[in-house]
Amino acid sequence: MKRTIELIKKFNTLVGPSGYEDEVREEIKKFVLKLGIKSITESPLGSLIIKVGTGKKKVMLAGHMDEIGVLCTYIDKDGFIRFSPVGGVSKYGLIGTRVKFINGVKGIIGAESLKKPDDFVLEKLYIDIGARSTKEAEKLVPIGTFGVFDREVDVLGTRVAAKAHDDRIGCIVMMEVLEKVYKKKLPYTVYFVFTTQEEVGLRGAKVAAYDLEPDFGIALDVTATGDTLDGYKMAVKLGAGVAIKVKDSSLITHPKLKDLLVKTAEKNKIKFQLEILDRGGTDAGAIHLTKSGIPSTVLSIPTRYVHSQSEMIDLDDVKATEDLLEKLITTSDLGNLKF
Ligand SMILES: [Zn+2]
Repeated sequence: MKRTIELIKKFNTLVGPSGYEDEVREEIKKFVLKLGIKSITESPLGSLIIKVGTGKKKVMLAGHMDEIGVLCTYIDKDGFIRFSPVGGVSKYGLIGTRVKFINGVKGIIGAESLKKPDDFVLEKLYIDIGARSTKEAEKLVPIGTFGVFDREVDVLGTRVAAKAHDDRIGCIVMMEVLEKVYKKKLPYTVYFVFTTQEEVGLRGAKVAAYDLEPDFGIALDVTATGDTLDGYKMAVKLGAGVAIKVKDSSLITHPKLKDLLVKTAEKNKIKFQLEILDRGGTDAGAIHLTKSGIPSTVLSIPTRYVHSQSEMIDLDDVKATEDLLEKLITTSDLGNLKF
């Protein structure tokens, strides 16, 4: 658990908006090379693909390296930066938020005067980087510069708040499982794919799946919870185990695959819950529509305040997710499914 916290801290200091995942990719690469694994490739769109095992059937795992963020689109005469959201940025809670651009420049989100609730639109917000003029701001943050939210990690008992659990925690689950299984004789060829541009439309996973033609796809990603006061009604709770995806906006898990996941969790006494997410999708949505269709699912890490700068997870759920993923790729049940 200490190790997981260290990884969470390290990976949430990295800047990786969609399309600019370089810092994250380099850090994962370092981790993999340290294990002595040589079969690493990079796709033209930036996904990192690590191949282990030699089994006939192919399993593609996907965790996305990118995070939501901002893009500098225009600079006012006073040096205030106007921005577009990158991915599903919620306008609520943005005022006073710290931003870090990919070149290291930092800023704070401010707002024009907001007189009535209808005024609260992204167009009225700006990023203040301390510049006094357009020229000064342009030098520091040229138009087209991407950035992310900047927030420290807080450990609250078994719970951890961070700015980009979505989806660094999915990447960390994959890294920790990779470390456990890479020396074992696996019944499959498993591709650990760290994908790009998920937050803007599952793009890295889409092209990687086309290239790899896997027999199965499993995404590792966060999901919402329904366990806060008077909150959204959803049967997923923080701390109640790995969430097995039944359905979201992009995917319905094939019933045979869903049943196998439930059986595997039960047999191995891994805490799990079933997840139906009304809005939102993951890389599995792109993977399963490749060619003639690839049975796919998601092992989700329950997360409160998704897409805020303080996403909260429970470390017990992370452990349960790792346990179920490890079982799935080290035993032959998955490969025995017939579709
Ligand atoms: Zn995600």
